[in-house]
Amino acid sequence: MLRTNTCGELTRNDLGKEVTLCGWVQKSRDLGGTTFIDVRDRYGITQLVFNEETAAEVREQARNLGREFVIRVAGKVIERSNKNLKIPTGEIEIAVTELEILNQSKVPPFLIEDETDGGEELRAKYRYLDLRRNPVRNNLVLRHKMAQEVRRYLDGLDFLEVETPVLIKSTPEGARDFVVPSRMNVGEFYALPQSPQTFKQLLMVSGFDRYFQIVKCFRDEDLRADRQPEFTQIDCEMSFITQEDILNVFEGLIRTLFKNVKGIDLIEVPRMTYADAMRLYGSDKPDTRFGMQFVELTDLVKGKNFPVFDNAELVVGINAKNCAAYTRKQLDELTDFIKRPQIGATGLIYLRYNTDGTLKSSVDKFYNEADLKNWAAAFSAEPGDLMLLLAGKKDKVRKQLNELRLEMGNRLGMRDKNTFSPLWVLDFPLLEWDEETERYHAMHHPFTSPKPEDIALLETDPGEVRANAYDMVINGTEIGGGSIRIHDRALQALMFKHLGFSKEEAQKQFGFLMDAFEFGAPPHGGIAFGFDRLCSIFAGLDSIRDVIAFPKNNSGRDVMIDSPSTIDEKQLNELKIKTTV
Ligand code: ASP
Repeated sequence: MLRTNTCGELTRNDLGKEVTLCGWVQKSRDLGGTTFIDVRDRYGITQLVFNEETAAEVREQARNLGREFVIRVAGKVIERSNKNLKIPTGEIEIAVTELEILNQSKVPPFLIEDETDGGEELRAKYRYLDLRRNPVRNNLVLRHKMAQEVRRYLDGLDFLEVETPVLIKSTPEGARDFVVPSRMNVGEFYALPQSPQTFKQLLMVSGFDRYFQIVKCFRDEDLRADRQPEFTQIDCEMSFITQEDILNVFEGLIRTLFKNVKGIDLIEVPRMTYADAMRLYGSDKPDTRFGMQFVELTDLVKGKNFPVFDNAELVVGINAKNCAAYTRKQLDELTDFIKRPQIGATGLIYLRYNTDGTLKSSVDKFYNEADLKNWAAAFSAEPGDLMLLLAGKKDKVRKQLNELRLEMGNRLGMRDKNTFSPLWVLDFPLLEWDEETERYHAMHHPFTSPKPEDIALLETDPGEVRANAYDMVINGTEIGGGSIRIHDRALQALMFKHLGFSKEEAQKQFGFLMDAFEFGAPPHGGIAFGFDRLCSIFAGLDSIRDVIAFPKNNSGRDVMIDSPSTIDEKQLNELKIKTTV
């Protein structure tokens, strides 16, 4: 080895030892006849001291070192006079007697320190330098730990890690596929997996019983803070189980991760039906770090000649505790917030419950004191509270109020990153009406089983059929989802029919799976967790990009390797592909 120790491990206990360290020059300062250099590696920082009197030549050499030069130094561990108790090595320094430059460095384009002066784009271009910074590297250290814990936990429960192919045919997970042209089968394309869904089900048919994989998945979707074109799932499947078994095993996984990685004893994960989540939070992934549940007032407020309420399918509100003193300006801000095109509400109605017990609303013209008292009672409001109401079409208005609730949660500081509130959301609808294509889509995916008692509704009221599907939500982010699968050819065929597939289409796309179901498919089900999202929640970050070593930007580009890029005419010809741009 080129070194005896890392830059993060020498302490008072090592005083007097002769050591050799390797690392990068972080900082250098000259003080009279002495030069101090901070040398850094993955493990920490150690102060080097070069003294003119004891090692004049080496000291002269040290004065010419630039930032990020890679060096190897030998010397003695001595006590530091000016101690830094914030770092483990802060009580010692190395009195250097030998210095070797292992490599030079250009001046880095930004400061390689915890607080950097580099903008996002610059850091993305030089990601390998950004990764030298502690906060960035620490995210990946955390990710590594989490992956190890996942493997240990699942291995302990007899799950087998099996790799599934990356060049496949499309699995409809609801997003667009990335496709790869085949040279050997000209004119034909592979798709990159949106998930290993069908493969893991086939492994159950193969009798593997318990499968998992920490696996890359690919979806060609518009990107957001919590989406990347390629992302990682903890993908799992089990045979001969009920939904209850899945919930228990994977609640166990999440609890183990919290315990072993963050030292947190997570509460037992509460459960809520999809219907209740929508009714109480207007979202299938409610942030339950705070209450502020929806209160429906539709019946209470109708019939007073206020057209907005009289014509509304739903009148619903939230109670912002202790916000009665909100100023006109603050209320206007909230109104502007919900009127933004992304949210699209037309107006906000408020009711203040003043601390002196009086009530004041923005619709006093239509409602008298007694009416408003009834509203306040419905909200269980107390003097000092502010109630915010929206009205309109049920689904829309719930979504809008969800946004307002989250905004109020932010404003009131109730969405603390160090508080973790997990939730199982159960009983999702099987199908979802798509306005654009005017047909039903599988809400989860087409392999999800309907609740047996709801199967009859498939013919009469498909939108009402509930699925054996579940999501795990933490702090308002969906971190995992899965379902009990269909394992019967006839039911699977029926499902495809309801999704608008002709028999031939279904056979062409999923014949392999339905055929497999005819060879003794066991009852099975599974789940997949978004590993990047889980890591970013553990790291207290807003974007999954920060827990990915080499992420892509918002336009799906890797600006470091400059990809995607055009390819040679020769390559295109081989693939018999012509581009029209
Ligand atoms: N394959 C599903 C997904 O990626 C998860 C599952 O059903 O296991 O969402």
